Amino acid sequence: MKRKILEVNELLKKQVDILFNSALSGGLSNVFSVWLIFTLVYDTKHHVNSLILSIVVTILMLVRTYVTGSYLKSSNRNINKYLSGYLLLTLSIGMAWGWFLLTQSSHSDDSVKNMIFLISFGLIAGGIPILSVWLPAYYVFVIPQAIAIFIVFISLDDAQHYYLALTFFIFISVMISTSINVNRSRKKEIELTFYNEQLIVDLNNEILIREEVQFQLENNKRKLEIKVEERTKDLIDINSNLEKVISKKEEAEESLQHLAYHDELTGLPNRNLLINRIDHSIEAAHRNKQQLGVLFLDLDRFKTINDSLGHIIGDKLIKQVSIRLLKTLRKEDTISRNGGDEFVVVIQRMINSDEAIGIAQKLIENLTSIFDIDSHKIHIGASVGISIFPNDGCSALELLRNADTAMYNAKKAGGNRLQFYDESMSNKLRERLEIENELHTAIANDEFYMAFQPQVNCLTGKTVGFEALLRWNNKELGAVSPVQFIPLLEETGLIYDVGKWVITYVTQFIASGHLSNVTVAINLSALQCGDMKFVSFIEKEIKNTGIDPSQLEFEITESLLIDDFEKTEIFLNKLHRIGCSIALDDFGTGYTSMSYLTRLPIDCIKVDQTFIRDIDTKSTLVNIVKSIVTMSTGLGMKNVFEGIETQAELDVVKNLNGEIVQGYLYSKPLDIDDIEQWLTKSHEVNAPYLIKQ
Ligand code: C2E
Ligand code: MG
Ligand code: MG
Repeated sequence: MKRKILEVNELLKKQVDILFNSALSGGLSNVFSVWLIFTLVYDTKHHVNSLILSIVVTILMLVRTYVTGSYLKSSNRNINKYLSGYLLLTLSIGMAWGWFLLTQSSHSDDSVKNMIFLISFGLIAGGIPILSVWLPAYYVFVIPQAIAIFIVFISLDDAQHYYLALTFFIFISVMISTSINVNRSRKKEIELTFYNEQLIVDLNNEILIREEVQFQLENNKRKLEIKVEERTKDLIDINSNLEKVISKKEEAEESLQHLAYHDELTGLPNRNLLINRIDHSIEAAHRNKQQLGVLFLDLDRFKTINDSLGHIIGDKLIKQVSIRLLKTLRKEDTISRNGGDEFVVVIQRMINSDEAIGIAQKLIENLTSIFDIDSHKIHIGASVGISIFPNDGCSALELLRNADTAMYNAKKAGGNRLQFYDESMSNKLRERLEIENELHTAIANDEFYMAFQPQVNCLTGKTVGFEALLRWNNKELGAVSPVQFIPLLEETGLIYDVGKWVITYVTQFIASGHLSNVTVAINLSALQCGDMKFVSFIEKEIKNTGIDPSQLEFEITESLLIDDFEKTEIFLNKLHRIGCSIALDDFGTGYTSMSYLTRLPIDCIKVDQTFIRDIDTKSTLVNIVKSIVTMSTGLGMKNVFEGIETQAELDVVKNLNGEIVQGYLYSKPLDIDDIEQWLTKSHEVNAPYLIKQ
């Protein structure tokens, strides 16, 4: 720290302070001295001078005490003015003393005289500590006295007066030099005090600064502690948030993992997990020389239920099915949902295939009892295909594919049954897949066309109608029979588009004028009969082409009635109202109940060719056909006899009062180019017209 230097002015002020503070005590010693002298000289001739001295000194001292006092009290003080005053007063006191001492040379009493001089010496010496703090004050007080004493000593008659004067000179010199020394040390003392005070101030400042710093430090420390606390809390929060995020992430990962390997609806393992499990089971079965059974289960009628009751009921049904399946199985067996209405069961550690039969039968049986879902009583069945490791495959995919093929065959055989896989199934499946593939592009590639098989009145030889039959000629597969591709069109749903194509084709063909005054029968599949939009389409096409709706007849099969009677009833009534007639095809092969026949707007019953074949040799067939004819007549329906191939068959039919016949004896289905020629001729009973195809 930079030290402050004591300025001359400052030093003077401090000197004056000390000087003025001791003015009273100095003054008192002077006043005491003058009045002491007065008492000593009271009875001498000097008492007047002494009294004058005493009064003058006392007054001067009072004035000086007043001056110094007012200086010390005042705050705004002119130091020079006060000092001059003080100096003048002290000089006056010194001069008063000098005057008095001069008057003492003639003193008769030496002892009193000596006493006076001794008092004066005392004052000269005593003035040092009081006045030498500021030398001019000492000098103005001492010098007049010293001059006076010196004059007195010189002027003494005494022989020793020189000696006295010299001694006094030495004394006064010592006093002056002492006063100088005292002055110096007083100044030093003042300086030291000043510096000490400075130091104390500095130290105090330092302490204050330190305290301030300390306070700041404490403050900062507190702030820091608060910040640390806040940060720690933040960190704890962040940490707990992070933990939450991590646990959420883990949960999400777990559920993703679960989703990746499980079916969302039933919670059962999905195909991915199933394949894993089958592969592991294959390894175990291989090691232990055991068999493994893969059961591919598909629900019967599920699609119809889903379409008619909605997918919410469908989903509930699937859940209940999964519960029933789980209850049926052993713990060690795996069950999975493959999607849709397909389930796969893996049977571990099989000793022989009978075990698979037992389980499959139990599964089918349990699914056959009625399901009660949202007060809907639902009846389903199941078709199960079985493949066995190692006979039917050595990998999960192979076993699954073969079990699927077996299931498909079980379904084809009527459903609600089990079927073991055999190799010939795969070949058929491959063939089927190939046909299915080609069918998808058949309309676009213009591969379909129609053939028309005549329906003839065998009594008059007149053609009364044609049955329109779909034909498909594919560049890879050649001509494929409708018996093969129609079921595939139904399974793939392509039947809707192809069905429309047939309607458009036939209505336009009729409209082109080639088939006037005859009916054209169009075959309908079960799926088409549930589709109300299809009726509207037919109506629209009739209107568009302007044909007579009574020229159109629609053939439906018996099985269609059993599937969804109510829907079919609405559909057929609508068609009938338009003006089209309805024929029941392949009659006798299904299980048509009599009540159905009476409730539906059926105009014609087509007697299936299985009853015609060999009717001339089998009397039972004759009886059956006879009762069909009786029933049809009773219900006011006409009959068409299908598949007449021989004259003998025709003869029997004629004997049974049959009129309209259709069969190879008359004609195979005709190409459109041959129709015109066919219609120009009559086709007599005994002269059937056989056309080559
Ligand atoms: P379907 O309705 O019973 O048609 C009669 C089938 O018997 C035709 O076979 C016809 O060629 C055959 N046929 C006719 N007369 C004789 C005969 O004297 N002897 C023998 N053995 N067969 C005869 P196709 O043309 O192969 O049709 C088979 C089935 O395909 C049809 O049976 C019908 O159910 C279905 N079908 C044909 N065309 C269509 C169609 O456009 N739509 C739908 N949904 N089904 C169709
Ligand atoms: Mg038919
Ligand atoms: Mg038929």
